[in-house]
Amino acid sequence: MDSLELKKNLLEWYQLHKRKLPWRGEADPYKILLSEVLLQQTRVEQAIPYYQRFLHQFPTLAALAQADQEDVLKAWQGCGYYARARNLHKLARQVVALGQPLPQTSIELRGLPGIGPYTAAAVASIAFGEPVAAVDGNVRRVLSRLYAWENPTPQQVQEAADTLMAELVYWGGEVNTPDGSLPGDWNQALMELGATVCTPHNPSCGACPVAPYCLGKSHPERYPAARARPQKSLEVVALVLQGPSGTYLELRQGRVLGGLWGVPMEEGPGALERLLARFRLEKAEPVGTVRHDFTHRKLNIQVYKAPYEAQENPEHRPLSRLDRKILKLVETESLRLL
Ligand code: SF4
Repeated sequence: MDSLELKKNLLEWYQLHKRKLPWRGEADPYKILLSEVLLQQTRVEQAIPYYQRFLHQFPTLAALAQADQEDVLKAWQGCGYYARARNLHKLARQVVALGQPLPQTSIELRGLPGIGPYTAAAVASIAFGEPVAAVDGNVRRVLSRLYAWENPTPQQVQEAADTLMAELVYWGGEVNTPDGSLPGDWNQALMELGATVCTPHNPSCGACPVAPYCLGKSHPERYPAARARPQKSLEVVALVLQGPSGTYLELRQGRVLGGLWGVPMEEGPGALERLLARFRLEKAEPVGTVRHDFTHRKLNIQVYKAPYEAQENPEHRPLSRLDRKILKLVETESLRLL
């Protein structure tokens, strides 16, 4: 494989075809970090309004450090994977407390809350020009196809990405990146190719700048083989307690929704009885069912409601998408019965 040609083609293609995104060309490391954290588990189109809203509210790392966690979660509301917001907030407080700017190397960045190898490499390469390969799902797919690997190990993919990056640095001036750092542009070019051309289904091999070097292009969908995701189903009961002055909400604990507010829920056998006992209620009225998927869990939620003296206004608290679905169902059902 002629590595130099491959890199030139891909970088040239990237300069011409990259999508215009609000964080592209951004030099502020905080903004680059925010975009990478958002993109960890959120699609680009969905991430854009959150990126803009978050920056409007917390324009600098220092502003984020000073904010209340509840305001941070409110700004993240609906974006999911709230551990990202909690960690970013913790990170800001940690860095600002030391009186220093964001660290510049991937090794130092990896020591910060919520920053894994991918995010550390992406930020260090894009914001600070460190020649370190960032491997996300897009890069894994592109490299698996390029080398026709069906079941590559994470190490194998990382090594291939590291080799390409090392060669790139070696070729240095022979490749052309007019508006960015070479390592940052290279990482983004690979990811962009995966996101827009070498897509999981029906990749556009005819328009691909690295097609001449691709060993997997005759059967791209074979590479890499799909990984089975074990998904556990959980039976859950949610109890919506409402009165004329508001809804009963409680602060959730735990890794997934911790820090957000929501309606009382219990899982497993006897869930409804436990909820009724907790609030000293005789009975609750069934409203309907809500289904909600987390990455590794499918929730089947039986929603009940009961009158209750409560004060919270759900508009004023950060709520998960799941809780908003539940409240919406109760509202729709009540309107239907009017
Ligand atoms: Fe992906 Fe096709 Fe390009 Fe190979 S030629 S990298 S399979 S889009």
